[in-house]
Amino acid sequence: MNGIQDGVAVVTGGGSGIGRQSSLRFAEEGARVVVADVDEDGGHETTEMIESDGGEATFVRTDVTDSDDVAAMVQTALDEYGGLDFAHNNAGIADEGTRLAEYDEAEWDQMIDVNLKGVWRCLKAEIPEMIERGGGAVVNTSSVAGVSANGSAHYAASKHGVIGLTRRATVDYADDGIRFNAVCPGVIDTPMVQQAGEDNSEELDRITAGIPAGRLGDPREIADTVVWLCSEDASYVMGQPIIVDGGLLAQ
Ligand code: NAP
Repeated sequence: MNGIQDGVAVVTGGGSGIGRQSSLRFAEEGARVVVADVDEDGGHETTEMIESDGGEATFVRTDVTDSDDVAAMVQTALDEYGGLDFAHNNAGIADEGTRLAEYDEAEWDQMIDVNLKGVWRCLKAEIPEMIERGGGAVVNTSSVAGVSANGSAHYAASKHGVIGLTRRATVDYADDGIRFNAVCPGVIDTPMVQQAGEDNSEELDRITAGIPAGRLGDPREIADTVVWLCSEDASYVMGQPIIVDGGLLAQ
């Protein structure tokens, strides 16, 4: 992919699943990667995987609900690699879901704080550094739940919100040379979904049977899209929710 080589990327939720694969994919294309996650073991594992393949990566423990952590994440990119070119704002949580009137306020607040406000905190810290650099590219992880009623109410609300933020950022910062897009994964074979499968295997089998591709997505298939969106090959793709779902929403 064009334009990734020698760039600097930050990836939140980089210690597991989709974020681990996008960290590896950025590094394969020659970027240096700041891997950020609350999971220290997972984050270190990702950087070790990158380094054992000859890439460059640094782990920084980052909780996206903490503005100081997020500022330190961006500062790590500046201190270690001299700037920031790409961001995959991906850290997120899910739950098994119930009907919307049955959530209590604390559950609602936590989901929004991680999945939506967490992305905003990252954008707030990343954008000034990208302006300083003369441009950049950002991918925020939404979901098929960001464009449909798949997923529980607070999860769907958070993921719809991520697309709104992505569109607004596009309009606000196009003149600064920064492109923003969202990726909307379907049902992807990561620890998040594996946990849901352990909790309710019949439900996961039912969902899988309804995917036209006939299988769950591989996190690598999302990572390919994320890094492509950051590359010069996607130079005219701006403000879009890109759905990667094996045909799930085509029905
Ligand atoms: P995952 O394997 O659970 O990875 C998510 C990572 O984010 C974990 O390492 C998790 O740490 C970390 N994390 C959680 N809260 C955090 C916080 N406050 N600050 C920093 N890191 C945090 O999940 P995934 O499936 O790769 O999901 C990645 C993103 O894709 C999420 O935004 C998710 O909503 C989205 N998504 C996933 C699917 C899917 O089918 N898998 C579909 C659509 C969208 P802990 O494990 O310690 O909590």
